[in-house]
Amino acid sequence: MKATLSDYPGGQLIKSISQGDFKNKRVFLRVDFNVPLKNGKVTDDTRITAALPTINFLREKGARLIIASHLGRPKGKPEAAFSLEPVATLLGEKLKSDVVFAHEATGYPVLKQSKELREGQIMLLENLRYYAGEESNDNEFAVKLSALADAYVNDAFGTCHRAHASVSALPGLLQDKYAGFLLEKEISELGRVIHNPDRPFVAVLGGSKVSDKVGVIEALLVKSSKIIIGGAMAYTFLRALQVDVGSSLVELDKVTLAGKIMTRAKEAKCQILLPVDHKMATSFDPPHAVKDSENAHIPKGWMGLDIGPKTIELYTRELAGTKCLFWNGPMGVFEQKPFDIGTMSLAQAIADLPNCVKVCGGGDSVAALNTSGLDQHFTHISTGGGASLEMIEGKAMPGIESLKRVPR
Ligand code: ADP
Ligand code: MG
Repeated sequence: MKATLSDYPGGQLIKSISQGDFKNKRVFLRVDFNVPLKNGKVTDDTRITAALPTINFLREKGARLIIASHLGRPKGKPEAAFSLEPVATLLGEKLKSDVVFAHEATGYPVLKQSKELREGQIMLLENLRYYAGEESNDNEFAVKLSALADAYVNDAFGTCHRAHASVSALPGLLQDKYAGFLLEKEISELGRVIHNPDRPFVAVLGGSKVSDKVGVIEALLVKSSKIIIGGAMAYTFLRALQVDVGSSLVELDKVTLAGKIMTRAKEAKCQILLPVDHKMATSFDPPHAVKDSENAHIPKGWMGLDIGPKTIELYTRELAGTKCLFWNGPMGVFEQKPFDIGTMSLAQAIADLPNCVKVCGGGDSVAALNTSGLDQHFTHISTGGGASLEMIEGKAMPGIESLKRVPR
């Protein structure tokens, strides 16, 4: 079954752009054009391409588009290195159409330009973070932005966990507001995973630190039947079970917490699976004397840098029959061969699961998945690193909450 906005609590109060009437309206579209720049040129245009379906849809519906984004961290004042002007040029090329670049985001000249836009025309505002009011969620700044908008669309999921003016205060001032296609998919798919999963629901968690993921683990252990753990995080858990971990990365101050998490998982009848062997080295940079451990213990002087072959086999077996799966965090130091084997093997095992909703979220895990060529076997790959994890934690996200229409 297809996930919908109603899979998220209160999601039925949010409208999708497919339900809107935009003819001749000035539509303020908040996107994520936070792209990498080098010498004034965009070096990765993934985020621009990802916004095109929403932009094209709104244009076809006769909207007069005012597009806004942040870029980098200019700290509340103009800084040429973070100007969105190169993005306006590239966007124009992609759309084969003129994009008016406004050198500001507020003020009379921009207001005048917005009123002069014709149906289907596009204007891109200057970096919202040139204004201190953006990050402080300042109401006055939001009021100024609202002067540009007859309707509002948010398609910037990666920013929704932050209470910033363009995603929080601004839509709070408007009734005619919508989720763009990208945001609608994120809310629906992540919403389904955490609030309405098909069962058995299994989580695969890895990455570097327990401390980054405590909230996610705690939310998942009451929802899922199994949590499969890999990555450096596993060593803090193994240490709590008094398994030798050699010189592997361990957060000593989180060992007790890891023990408590395992106790709570047991109470919640959620099985926690930990590696039974490891791919190890005596030094990492460069990797030296790589070999697999005999068992879960790591000898002195060695560090675990990936899950081992027995663990891959075990985890693959344990995944069988899963109907809904959430994956965050690589199983090893996937950036460095051969420590990518665990991550890539699990990606393959997940890709092979029949009749299963498969969702992946998190910066590094998504990067790993995208290089694996297996991404098309996933139901959803989230574009928001931190935002997807906050969503899974079940935290209320300011940018999503303020899209809800107050029933009248
Ligand atoms: P995500 O961005 O998907 O949430 P994290 O940022 O938590 O993932 O973790 C990714 C990082 O964890 C990677 O840089 C990877 O090299 C590192 N990592 C994974 N396993 C290990 C390990 N065994 N030892 C050291 N670092 C590891
Ligand atoms: Mg990361």
